[in-house]
Amino acid sequence: MSDQVNDPVLCPVCGKKAKTGSAIDCARHIFGTGDKPHRDWVNAQGLSFIDLLIEQATTPGNKSYQILAEVIEKARAKK
Ligand SMILES: [Zn+2]
Repeated sequence: MSDQVNDPVLCPVCGKKAKTGSAIDCARHIFGTGDKPHRDWVNAQGLSFIDLLIEQATTPGNKSYQILAEVIEKARAKK
């Protein structure tokens, strides 16, 4: 993947740059926002927003963020 500092990740839904512009921060932003457009985008990637949110809330670590960050990177690469 390209360098995150020079090529910040923008939210695929609202175009916002989350904090450092890393894919993980973008994933956090998507979970943190959690409105319908953001939920719909996650679901459209073949994931379940609710399942990822529950997973994140009930298990230690950042697994859900990492899964979503990977999907964000994949979606970026397609452009
Ligand atoms: Zn957003």
